[in-house]
Amino acid sequence: MTIADERIERLQELAADAVEDDEPGLAREYVRLARRVAERKRRSLPESFKRFTCDSCDTYLRPGTNARVRIQDGHVVITCDCGHHSRYPY
Ligand SMILES: [Zn+2]
Repeated sequence: MTIADERIERLQELAADAVEDDEPGLAREYVRLARRVAERKRRSLPESFKRFTCDSCDTYLRPGTNARVRIQDGHVVITCDCGHHSRYPY
């Protein structure tokens, strides 16, 4: 675990907390910051990070708060409040 990995993990937690506190702007800042850290240090983002960030509006997705989760045709479909869907096999 490198310092970059730890920073990314920490930013992920902060983004999740920001959504919980109804601070979507702050959540986006943390998500973007974490992406930049990963890019600069050439670290890949953890699977959970990719899964719980919206590709369209960069917010952090918390099912039940700003995202809906449905199971459809063997996929998990996560719908962001902005309307963007992400599908993952499970
Ligand atoms: Zn979105």
